[in-house]
Amino acid sequence: MKDEYRHKGLRRKMLDELRTLGIVDEDVLDAIDRVPRHFFLSSAFEQFAYQNKAFQIGAGQTISKPHTVARQTELLGLVPGQKVLEIGTGSGFQCAVLCAMGYKVFSIERQRSLYDKARPLLASMGFKPQLFYGDGYKGKKTFAPFDGIIVTCGAPEVPEALLQQLAIGGKLVIPVGEGDTQLMYSFERISEKEFTRQKHGEFAFVPMLSNRAQG
Ligand code: SAH
Repeated sequence: MKDEYRHKGLRRKMLDELRTLGIVDEDVLDAIDRVPRHFFLSSAFEQFAYQNKAFQIGAGQTISKPHTVARQTELLGLVPGQKVLEIGTGSGFQCAVLCAMGYKVFSIERQRSLYDKARPLLASMGFKPQLFYGDGYKGKKTFAPFDGIIVTCGAPEVPEALLQQLAIGGKLVIPVGEGDTQLMYSFERISEKEFTRQKHGEFAFVPMLSNRAQG
């Protein structure tokens, strides 16, 4: 697939829409500008790739809306070189945006087919995240602590393992809830045992499920 002039134009329009929706971090918008979203969708959706919509990516999963990706990245509030763990690689789009921000990225996906697709795609675009096929509920202890953890599926509750794998000063950005929509929370670890919590409005995600999917 190619990133053509018309894609770049559509992307600029999308960035303006994200600004209208309240995204203020220009570094985040710049990172999104550097990741052609149409590479992450099947060609049937190519013409819609720069709309603020979620689309099917296979295995019953969806790519998050650009606004959701922008908002979660903004809420992480990291600086280049910091370590971030993503739960739910999915298409790899959010993962690519985190790489474009200059973070050291780790990402876990429980659907084998999505993991197998995202891996070569991200590599072909020059991004170098460490990808894992596994269950994100457990986090990735061997690479902890993380400066940021971003969950891109709706969690029924906040997994304790993820809180425990945050560095002091680190942030967990996680949508919580089991219905059609979830409430976005950010938790900041302020000491070994203390966390602060903030709410950031409603978003819609596919559910966070336990264990690796079989097949
Ligand atoms: N960040 C992705 C969003 C994909 S949707 C993107 O930009 O495209 C959320 C993804 O979370 C799905 O692919 C789903 O399979 C995955 N997921 C759900 N529960 C999980 C878990 N426990 N561990 C890892 N991935 C999980």
